[in-house]
Amino acid sequence: MKVLFLAHTEADGSLGKAASEALTAAKTLGGELTVGLYGADVQAAANAVAGCGAAKFYGVAGAEFASARYGSDAAACEAMGKAAGADVIVMPSTSRASRVAAGVAQRLGAVVDTRLTGLEINGGTITATRWFYRQRMLGKIERDARPWLMTIDTGCFAACEAAGAATVELLAVTPATRTKVTEIIAPAADAQTIRPDAKLLLVAGAGWGKSQADGQKHVDEAARLILGLLSATQASLGSSKSLVDQSGEGAALPFLTHMHQVGQTGSTPRHQKGLATCCHGEEPHVVGWRFIAERRAINLDANCGWAQGKADVLYVADAFAVMSKLVDMLK
Ligand SMILES: Cc1cc2nc3c(=O)[nH]c(=O)nc-3n(C[C@H](O)[C@H](O)[C@H](O)COP(=O)(O)OP(=O)(O)OC[C@H]3O[C@@H](n4cnc5c(N)ncnc54)[C@H](O)[C@@H]3O)c2cc1C
Repeated sequence: MKVLFLAHTEADGSLGKAASEALTAAKTLGGELTVGLYGADVQAAANAVAGCGAAKFYGVAGAEFASARYGSDAAACEAMGKAAGADVIVMPSTSRASRVAAGVAQRLGAVVDTRLTGLEINGGTITATRWFYRQRMLGKIERDARPWLMTIDTGCFAACEAAGAATVELLAVTPATRTKVTEIIAPAADAQTIRPDAKLLLVAGAGWGKSQADGQKHVDEAARLILGLLSATQASLGSSKSLVDQSGEGAALPFLTHMHQVGQTGSTPRHQKGLATCCHGEEPHVVGWRFIAERRAINLDANCGWAQGKADVLYVADAFAVMSKLVDMLK
């Protein structure tokens, strides 16, 4: 079996974490491994995994492969896919790779499965696993069709570390592109409040927007405290559905979007620790907490959902007071 690991490099020329993990996944299949890398310059990334056991390194490099763009990325992957003639092609599930995976599979006449979380090989049969229906059902996939292109989710394999000196055969690819990348405009790293790699998840609930003991709403104070804690801890921000719905109507915290919603109809983050504030802890919300290992909550109500076995520690307290003290201490 011929296995091709295919990945883009990062802006600084390195191989990203997701890609090094996907390389470990590719290695678990055994077989004859080829590495294919694309980006502005691929040598540093190839060197970082030079000792991974690959028989061959292909590269497609140059200024037009620096940025994520469908036309150039797909052309680079297609060229390396054809050169390697692999049975199985393994890519990381980064947004850049995911964007071209299906198109590359089509160009190579391959079948494609995305966001795989596990790979096993038994007597030549590959069994891939992935989640369906928001991580409620674990599916196992076996296919006779080859080539089989797969993308691997992050956090499922250890990153491959095998630095050395790699000899890369560069393929000449002239992509037929209509799109020119002129500039990348992105929010400052600090403005991005969804941080999947953070150890702590801070969840804000609708209580932050409700009238408090003095009969008044204190939304500006809530925003200051939440952003203060995020900036002091670099935690990731999540929210309950009630609060993001209100924010969408312009009634609550301006930095919340539906991307922040945690729960049955929201996301299922995987941080080590979670702190819920001003959130009731109802089942449809807590469903999204099932991969959070250590859970704490601050709520005025000693009888809230968190007290019903859903948190390890519940602080029955005013979240405005607790967070204010916490932000001061962290400063
Ligand atoms: C099909 C379906 C799917 C759903 N999916 C989701 C989902 O994916 N995610 C989700 O979040 N919800 C979901 N919901 C909604 C969910 O049932 C709840 O309505 C929602 O999570 C409640 O949000 P909350 O706890 O922020 O607000 P509330 O229930 O209004 O609770 C606010 C809490 O804040 C506390 N509070 C107020 N002031 C303070 C203070 N000063 N200090 C401390 N605590 C304070 C109050 O005691 C209260 O417990 C779903 C519902 C349905 C029917």
